Amino acid sequence: RLEIRNLCRSYDGRAVVQDVSLSVMPGQVTCLLGPSGCGKSTTLRMIAGVEMQDSGTIHVDGSLICDTHFRIPPERRRIGLMFQDFALFPHLTVAQNVAFGLDGGRAEQRARVEELLTRVDLMRHIDSYPHHLSGGEQQRVALARALAPKPRVMLMDEPFSGLDNRLRDEIRDETLDVLKEEGAAVLLVTHEPDEAMRMADEIALMRGGRIVQQGAPYNIYNAPRDKAAVAFFSDIN
Ligand code: ATP
Ligand code: MG
Repeated sequence: RLEIRNLCRSYDGRAVVQDVSLSVMPGQVTCLLGPSGCGKSTTLRMIAGVEMQDSGTIHVDGSLICDTHFRIPPERRRIGLMFQDFALFPHLTVAQNVAFGLDGGRAEQRARVEELLTRVDLMRHIDSYPHHLSGGEQQRVALARALAPKPRVMLMDEPFSGLDNRLRDEIRDETLDVLKEEGAAVLLVTHEPDEAMRMADEIALMRGGRIVQQGAPYNIYNAPRDKAAVAFFSDIN
């Protein structure tokens, strides 16, 4: 379970994230949806621990991860990351890429790698190198790699934006299935309303550094709070 409370961050005196609070339950996907520059990636970077908040707290499964006085380093947060430029290591095989962040013995690692590659349907490429895979296949390897250490929280920042349209729908559905099976709490950033409608259990609409509306996709779509929210959803068909 991910819980963030009153996260704030300014750059050069300009607040880019203001009092952002939300919680995501295991197995649930919350979409942070909003226009370019509204503070989505900054929010994710603070949760990941690669950026420090000015104030506010972050808890994972009830344990404090970070506040203004205390900070667990990124690699010990049990948080998985998947960003737009999800580069795989080109000189490592698919199996080695997925095993990269894993502790434990060889056999144990191998079992986890095979479990995940089976899940993303890529066992036949276990010994291939990334450049032999299609974009969609590389994406699935990146997902397997992020999930391998069993993160309690998955942060995804527009992970599908590098894929062409046809592939994107397919990969979204597959990704969702795998995420649900693994049971992490997922925070997915997007600026595409249809992606949020498709994937989210809950949507948090963000604008100017603040969450302006939050709820089930259907509720937000049917009862947008203001004109800006209406405009934002108007390109969905
Ligand atoms: P996009 O959809 O374009 O990715 P975003 O919602 O992810 O946008 P952020 O990357 O969080 O937006 O940026 C929010 C604001 O903070 C922007 O105005 C950006 O210019 C500013 N910003 C982000 N990082 C820094 C930084 N390190 N120094 C100064 N300003 C920054
Ligand atoms: Mg961004």
